[in-house]
Amino acid sequence: MTQFYKVTALMIAVLAVSSSDALAFGRSSGGGGSTVPSTHPCSVAPRAQTDGTVRFELSAMNQFTESQKEKLREAAAVAERVINSDEFRDKVINFTYNGEKHFVSTDLSNEQVYDTLLAAKETYTGNTDSVAQLCLNIYTPPFYKKWSVVGYTTPGQPDIYMNSYYFNSFDATEVAGNMVHEWTHKLGFDHDYNRTARRPYSVPYAIGAMVGELADLAH
Ligand SMILES: [Zn+2]
Repeated sequence: MTQFYKVTALMIAVLAVSSSDALAFGRSSGGGGSTVPSTHPCSVAPRAQTDGTVRFELSAMNQFTESQKEKLREAAAVAERVINSDEFRDKVINFTYNGEKHFVSTDLSNEQVYDTLLAAKETYTGNTDSVAQLCLNIYTPPFYKKWSVVGYTTPGQPDIYMNSYYFNSFDATEVAGNMVHEWTHKLGFDHDYNRTARRPYSVPYAIGAMVGELADLAH
């Protein structure tokens, strides 16, 4: 559990510095104050994965340097190992909030949450191809907003934007947690906009935390 609290504490710490932009790990653009128009729209059609596992596909890595791309590849590998592990399945199926086996901010049962993740059904394609399609962009916010948000994404669109200040300070596991958090938004999962007590129990926050928690196990 130590790791869980560490990751959660990290996310909360991130939010604490962004009271004016309550969009840390946000799900929409605008609050970050530096929306980057996509110059390289992500339109790659991923090949379906048919062996019952999920593949994390880096469909676009826009504006990343070579060494940053290497971190992304490591992060995608961490995410892939965790999500395909038995430990991850058990954690999702047995996840509880207030003594009930349920995530907050979703009507789906834990089994349905797990199935949705494994199907990798991004809302903008509707494909249950078991390919986590990642269309990633890195941006540098203006200095006075440098720690405002870790990243953001817009529902119904493929692009995910990562703040370079956080990205560069994160190790691959932390990047994986953030990547998976944002990716669950692509599957239609959401969380409270404000920093509520229940928000860590939403699918994006809880699943993102599990990636950090299980990263070592999955090695
Ligand atoms: Zn989010």
